[in-house]
Amino acid sequence: MLQNHLKYIPNYPQSFTGKERDSETGFSYFGARFYDSDLMTGWLSVDPMADKYPGLSPYAYCGWNPVKLVDPDGMEIDWVKDASGEIYWDNNAVSQATTKEGEIYLGKEGCKYNNDIGTITHYKSNGEKEYYPYSSPNSNSFGAFPINIPTESYKSGYAQFGSNRSNNRKHAGSDLYAPEGTAVFSTNDGVIITNPYYFYKGTKAIEINHSSYTARYCEIIPSFDISAGMHVKKGEFLGILKAMNIGQSNNTMLHFEMYNNTAKGALTVTSNFPYKRREDLIDPTSFLNSLLFISPAKCVLK
Ligand SMILES: [Zn+2]
Repeated sequence: MLQNHLKYIPNYPQSFTGKERDSETGFSYFGARFYDSDLMTGWLSVDPMADKYPGLSPYAYCGWNPVKLVDPDGMEIDWVKDASGEIYWDNNAVSQATTKEGEIYLGKEGCKYNNDIGTITHYKSNGEKEYYPYSSPNSNSFGAFPINIPTESYKSGYAQFGSNRSNNRKHAGSDLYAPEGTAVFSTNDGVIITNPYYFYKGTKAIEINHSSYTARYCEIIPSFDISAGMHVKKGEFLGILKAMNIGQSNNTMLHFEMYNNTAKGALTVTSNFPYKRREDLIDPTSFLNSLLFISPAKCVLK
């Protein structure tokens, strides 16, 4: 059984407990959520793995540190879903054609939100599984904020839309930094445009047509449940954040891009300087700002 050899590894001991840096508004979304007992429910009062893995400390989710549960017996594999819905590795499956009849080939890496136990499973490309706590998205009439508790501001520095990159390129989105395993949510109802595809440094992207805008959710590991043509709801689980494989820390973020749907076609247009994006690219900052001002009862200003 899994529980006989599970270990837990506290994740992000420093960066995730750091102070907010939103000097522009002085509004600490980290602080707001930290002191809001309503919003805390999903994180601290429940340890969804406690029943399943009784050897673990109930304080494993102490503070904001997501807990990484690693199955060290994992092997190099591909993931397959059997007829009962169970996801397992199959050493012989590398495509649907090599997957057993009646089963669904899922791929080398993905994740899934387990509604019944309130956790997210990350099915890693090395055959390991990791489990992360899930907390509900925060939304208002404008939409749902795409992640919970970003650790630094997307409104300044390198994270900001339009900030300079090498070779005269400019940053085409807003970066929302948060720990690996953080859930990514659909900002509004919409339709998935394409199957998730490889994006950058070991991460993938999802495109969603939200009617009045298209959003691209980048540098994530998508849910196995996401596919082209499916309808998603505001706040629906799309996937998780994952560190890029560039050998440095603090590079786990949602790179969030927006387009106002006045153009058609591929979102990346490498000839279109300085953003290298479709011509209807827009700055997501004001939209993201509008989502942070949740109902007053949920905002505790420090
Ligand atoms: Zn970015």
